Amino acid sequence: MKTISGQLQIETKGYSDIIDITSEVEEALKESKLRAGIISIICSGSTGALTTCEYESGLIEDLKRFFEKVIPENEAYHHNERWGDGNGFSHVRASLIGPSLTVPFNEGKLNLGTWQQIIFIDFDNRPRDRKIHLQIMGE
Ligand code: ZN
Repeated sequence: MKTISGQLQIETKGYSDIIDITSEVEEALKESKLRAGIISIICSGSTGALTTCEYESGLIEDLKRFFEKVIPENEAYHHNERWGDGNGFSHVRASLIGPSLTVPFNEGKLNLGTWQQIIFIDFDNRPRDRKIHLQIMGE
């Protein structure tokens, strides 16, 4: 078994910016030349999150509306009182979704559905330069 590490660099707009990173992950998998195994993906940063969805504009808006409804930006957050950076909502949203994702692959292809993409969500309240780490394990 082999382990190969990689990294994606992503510029975001913040404010629940939802970015499809599927093709970048597929590219890293292709470069690894591994055929079967798992790929672990993690965003380093406590206001970013990873999950999957059908990446289409309707659903992107639905997700943004859901985040604002469940965890509104303009609530009182203890984090904001302590740090004054105003991104309490970003941290709570990111913790809810989670920072990482593990996807198995076979015959060199990710085991994703046809209408399922890997998305990175930047919940922070400002544009960010993000690093996403990939760890590909397999043979
Ligand atoms: Zn903060």
